[in-house]
Amino acid sequence: MSSEPSTGFADRTETVVLGGGPCGLYAALTLAKAGRRVTLIEKEDVTGGLARGHLRAGNHYDLGVHMLHAFDKGVFETVKEIMGDERIEVPLNAKIKWAGSFYRYPLQFGDMVKGMNPLVLAQCCIGLLAYQTWYKFRPHTPKDAEEALIQLYGKPLYEFFFKEFTTRYWGFPPTQLSATFITTKMPRLSAVDVIKKVLAKFGIQDKSVHAVESALSEEILHYSRNGAEAMPRLIVGEIERLGCRVVRQADVCGISIDPTSGKANAVTYRNTATDSTHAIGCDHVISTIPIRDLLAAFGDHAPADVRESAAYLKTKAITIYGLLVKKEKAIDSLYIYYRDKAFHRVGEPKNAGLIVNPPDHTVLIVETTCEIGDAKWNGDDSARQAIFADLEREGICRPDEIVEVHLLRAPDGYPIFGLGFEPHLEKVNGFVRSIGNVQTTGRQGGFCYPNMHKAMRMGADAADRVLQTVGTAE
Ligand SMILES: Cc1cc2nc3c(=O)[nH]c(=O)nc-3n(C[C@H](O)[C@H](O)[C@H](O)COP(=O)(O)OP(=O)(O)OC[C@H]3O[C@@H](n4cnc5c(N)ncnc54)[C@H](O)[C@@H]3O)c2cc1C
Repeated sequence: MSSEPSTGFADRTETVVLGGGPCGLYAALTLAKAGRRVTLIEKEDVTGGLARGHLRAGNHYDLGVHMLHAFDKGVFETVKEIMGDERIEVPLNAKIKWAGSFYRYPLQFGDMVKGMNPLVLAQCCIGLLAYQTWYKFRPHTPKDAEEALIQLYGKPLYEFFFKEFTTRYWGFPPTQLSATFITTKMPRLSAVDVIKKVLAKFGIQDKSVHAVESALSEEILHYSRNGAEAMPRLIVGEIERLGCRVVRQADVCGISIDPTSGKANAVTYRNTATDSTHAIGCDHVISTIPIRDLLAAFGDHAPADVRESAAYLKTKAITIYGLLVKKEKAIDSLYIYYRDKAFHRVGEPKNAGLIVNPPDHTVLIVETTCEIGDAKWNGDDSARQAIFADLEREGICRPDEIVEVHLLRAPDGYPIFGLGFEPHLEKVNGFVRSIGNVQTTGRQGGFCYPNMHKAMRMGADAADRVLQTVGTAE
């Protein structure tokens, strides 16, 4: 699709946004609000990306329970206004099930060590202090996730808590995971704070530690009675009300480059309903689709080494088992994290206000990581039985209470920060930057782990960079 002439596109817009997840939606909204012409192209038949909801047989199922944090004031106020009465407030109430006990989420160190054999606890504390002191005086860049976890938590705690879980989650050991995953995703537990928390367990209180814990547990999240479905739908409504376009079932398959300027001048997509292709001429492209898909769209215009680097940037697939359960209520929180089950999180969005039909039933959102085409992805009997058995073992529901199973899948659930991925990402970014009028951002396009509000901020930033070039319409 590269090197086509810049003229002759019957369909034209100013900016094409690729991908209709939170990042792309917010980028398009920012441009539409500034009076610019924008067209958003989304592969699926519903927008929202990973934060989408699906209506199945009269109930809404999130692709993993999604609630908005209000940490970004600008984003939050905009979304709040657009959602109007459909927004509901939900106090954070999540738990982690581990070694037979429930703990608060986000995980607190005090909770993590609760119930631990005192000898192991002492070992962990000494290990933590020793490792943090050692690395303080001999700073050393960790070579992989294992080293990074040991630097953060000490070896005994790493062995006790993180090693097996990390392996189970990703399907490979922490030695094959980049340290960047740990340094950008995990909260740093200062050894001193941790020791203070342990002392607090014995009645020796420290005010600063308590302040942090209560701030986390008092957070209010934002949701709707239809689950995650409402926010993207209402943002799309606003984009369209402002005169811009959102095209669904549109799989991006080409980006044309003007041979004179070297800049992108059109995006081609395949309409998956009609199997026909369409081209839209444009001046700017904001891409939030996976890097793999973006590079494929450039075709031969992308050098072979850049394509090889893009191929290195893989993602972990997720399959969500959306269950309708003949039971008023199944769990006692919004969601529970598990470390050693066939799933890693079970959410009950009814506890956050989701309307369920019939009302004496509930909806469970059971989250699993998987490989495309494996038993979980396919929803094979073996995978279902393993999930149902663990649900029963955990006292959540019995197999005979599960009256409907809806499989929701996403091939690009989690970017895999494989060992040595950083230079590959940099190479891809360098190539995209060299084009001049194409940006790649968001969770997929930036190959990173933003929450929704952060992904939306990334979309707003990308839109602002376009506005710096074209200005705001009068
Ligand atoms: C299980 C789970 C639970 C989560 N829970 C929360 C939560 O409670 N709160 C929170 O703030 N965040 C949560 N997150 C994070 C949240 O999902 C992300 O921050 C957000 O979805 C990132 O938005 P994005 O637009 O960058 O990417 P995505 O949401 O991944 O959007 C990318 C879009 O591009 C589209 N696309 C892909 N390829 C093409 C193509 N070739 N052509 C056209 N379109 C294409 C996709 O269909 C998708 O719509 C959760 C994530 C997961 C996995």
